[in-house]
Order: sequence, then structure tokens, then C-alpha cells
Amino acid sequence: MKNLAARCPSVGSHAGVPVALGAAMLALFSFGAGAVPAAADAEATRALGRDLLKELIEINSTHAHGSTVIAKSLADRFLAEGFAPADVVLLAPPDHPTKGNLVVRLRGAGHGAPILYICHLDVVEAKREDWNFDPFKLTEKDGWLYGRGTIDMKGQDAAVAASLIRLKREGKPPARDIIVAFTADEESEGDANGVDWLLKTHRELIDGSLVINPDGGEAGMKAGRKLYVAVQTSEKVFMTLGLTVTDKGGHSSRPTDSNPIYRLANALARVSQLKFPVHLTETTKLYFSRRAQLEQGVVRADFSAIAAGTADAAAIGRLSADVETNIMLRTTCTATMMDGGHAENALPQRARASIQCRVIPGETPESVAATLRNAIADPSIVISTITAARPSPESAPNPALLATVEAVTHEIWPGVIVLPEMSPGASDSAYSRSAGMPSYGIDGIFDDLDDGRAHGRDERIGVTAFNDDIEFTYRLMKRLAASRP
Ligand SMILES: [Zn+2]
Repeated sequence: MKNLAARCPSVGSHAGVPVALGAAMLALFSFGAGAVPAAADAEATRALGRDLLKELIEINSTHAHGSTVIAKSLADRFLAEGFAPADVVLLAPPDHPTKGNLVVRLRGAGHGAPILYICHLDVVEAKREDWNFDPFKLTEKDGWLYGRGTIDMKGQDAAVAASLIRLKREGKPPARDIIVAFTADEESEGDANGVDWLLKTHRELIDGSLVINPDGGEAGMKAGRKLYVAVQTSEKVFMTLGLTVTDKGGHSSRPTDSNPIYRLANALARVSQLKFPVHLTETTKLYFSRRAQLEQGVVRADFSAIAAGTADAAAIGRLSADVETNIMLRTTCTATMMDGGHAENALPQRARASIQCRVIPGETPESVAATLRNAIADPSIVISTITAARPSPESAPNPALLATVEAVTHEIWPGVIVLPEMSPGASDSAYSRSAGMPSYGIDGIFDDLDDGRAHGRDERIGVTAFNDDIEFTYRLMKRLAASRP
């Protein structure tokens, strides 16, 4: 979660017929209007959030285990809080019954289209022997909460669930419906990705005019200093191209200039020198102008200049020399795999390489392939598509939304800036964006940018960071749902 680049992209799709799980079971947990609501204040919500986090961490929801058990356990919580059974819907693709999803709706007053939160329930595998703690037990030690999924993204799942329950307990319907889809299979190459499947088969259940995906967001800190709360509006689109060179081959005692390995090597050398043109989006212009506030000296001046469109060649050179900055400036393509030849004493008949591209939203796969073709300048090399791009348009960095996030951020963390962001990797927002729903990654769990543990060993979040995020999530949800579009 923290290291956006490290997150697994979800690829692929699944079609199927929904299975609503046990209506009778759901009814059992339905409380009538006479149920006494529990306290709706911040402290009660913190306790609830911690309790939910423990429950979520301790149900193993790796790819092998699936998400149906964890989704059902969350469903029971909402039903016990008095959500109507019709608004607590468990669904799994019939051919992937273990990949359950839960869609919960808090009914509003009907002023405006619903807000949809998307929250994945699955986690990356973790082995006990690699960790200092049991990854599937919530362990508190020295101000930290350890467990697989604490930062990616059961901490955020718990905060979203606790906030929705707090709003329900308050008893005043928000202006707009709030829908939360707790989903399957974000991490696992997506053989039953919940967001994709729900959009394809149950669009009416999760349709909204605004999507918040905490998984795509980040709240960054360095050396104990809180720096920014990001609003992720866009993601680079990934695609993989293949370069193939063929020849008739022959005996290695009679070398020729048409050796495919040499021709491929020459092509790759040119790809290594290729720099795509600088291409800023609405988001990255805002990113650099706001990021400048966190920097000093030449970096600050360069960030301001690139945002204003006044950067000279020297400034662009300095910015491009930094990996993290370079990827925000332009599309990139890099070699990731190669193979060639078939015997140690034969001239190769074939050599191949894979080129992974991360494309700035708005550029087309064709234009990227054409730029590569020009750079390679060898028409005998065949460029093919190995993994096609899945379009994911930028969601406009909407000023009203940014102002709302800023207001809530400043209430809790004065001085922290709100930073519109394009991430280099992919999240489930790619599905909702390509389905035409403006989607924003927003997460309030501050995490050290130099100690990213998402998908890694001893994954953890700070106790205070988690408590603060519960309050942040609640206030933001409440404010967004109160607004009339
Ligand atoms: Zn995630």
C-alpha cells in the first residue's frame, strides 16, 4: 500500500452469475428498529476499529484461502448494527465460490448519486518462518500493530467499516447513499477480481458518481515528519511489448552479420537510450507545484519550473536523473526478459525480448509502439503485443474534492499538504475509471516512505497512525456524503 509501485496490479476478468449467500443466515442477524444503538463517538469507534482489525487480520484471506469467510464475518457485523439485510449483500462468482465480495449500503436522503468505497479484503501470502510475529495474529508491540494486511489494506478496511457503522449509529441519514464494496482478489493476478466482476455483473449494486479507493492512496512521512496526504487521481497504464528477430541460422563456425542475438542486442541498446518526451497531466502539474513546498534549493526550483512549464533543458535533465521523478514526467519502457538461440554450436534462428511500458494516461499504445519502432530503427525486428494496455483515464483533480480532503487533513494534521498523484502501478481503480466512474485513492494511515512493508515481512502500522486514520476516514466519509453534487 505505501509503496504504490510494489502493489500487485490486478489483471484479467471474470464473468459469471451471482450467488447470494444464505438469505436465511442474513435474516438471523437482522436487528429490528428497537435495537439500542451503541455509542457513536470517536472513542467507541476507535475501539470498534481495533476490534475489526483484529478480526480481519486473524482470518487468513490469501489467494489460497479466498475472501468468502472474511466477507461473511464482516457482513455479520453490519447486520448486527441494524443494516437491512437487503443492504448487506454477499456475492461470489459461481465458479469461484471462495472469492466472495460484500456490498454494504448506508441509505442516504437521496440527494445525489451514491459514493462508492472500494476496499479489497485479500492479502499477499506470508510465511510464519519469515516473520518475527505470526502474520495472521494482530500483535501490538512498542506502539506498532503487526500483521499481514495492516497497511495493505485491512487497516483501511477496518477504518472504513468502523466509520460506516459510526454514521449508522448516529441515526441521521447522509445526503447521499454510501456504498462500500469489500472485494476479492486484488493481489492475485485477478482470477476473480471483485471490482471487475461486480462492475460487469452487478453494476446497479455499486453504481455511484464518486469512488474512493484507500488502496490507491498514501499518507507519506519521512524521519517522523508527516509530509502529505495523497489524492491519487490516475495511474500509469502498463503494457508489454515483444521484440522478435529471426534468421535462417546455420553453423556457428560460419558467423554472419544477421545473427538475431546481435540485432536484438543493438535494438535493446537503443531502447536503453530512449527517453519519451516529457508529458505532464493536470495531476502531475499540481503534484510538482505542491511537492515543491516540501523541497528546498534547486529541487524546489526545478519542481516549480516544471509545474509552470518553464523548466529548461538543464532542469529537465536533473529531474530525469532521479528515478522517482523521471517516472512522473514521462512514459517509460524497459527490457524485462530475453531469450535466444537453441544450441551452443548453432547460429540462432530467433531472439526475443519483453519490453514493459508504463504509459502516461492519454497516450495510446500505438503511439508508444511507434516511438519504440523509430528508436530501434530496424524494420526486420517485429514488435508484438504480449500484454495489451487496459485503458485507465485520469480522474480530474476536482477542486471541490481536493478542498474537502484538505479541510479534513488540516483539522487532524495541521501543516500537512494534500498532494494530487499519478501512481506508477495499478490498483482496482483502473476498473472503476475505465467504467467511467471518477476514482480517487485516499488513505490516512501515515507510513514511513523509507520503510515500506506492504507485501513484505513484519508488515505493520503505528497504533496512533491507525487511530488517526479511523477519525480521518469517518470525517471525510461524512463530509463527502453530506455534499450535494
Ligand atoms: Zn492493496
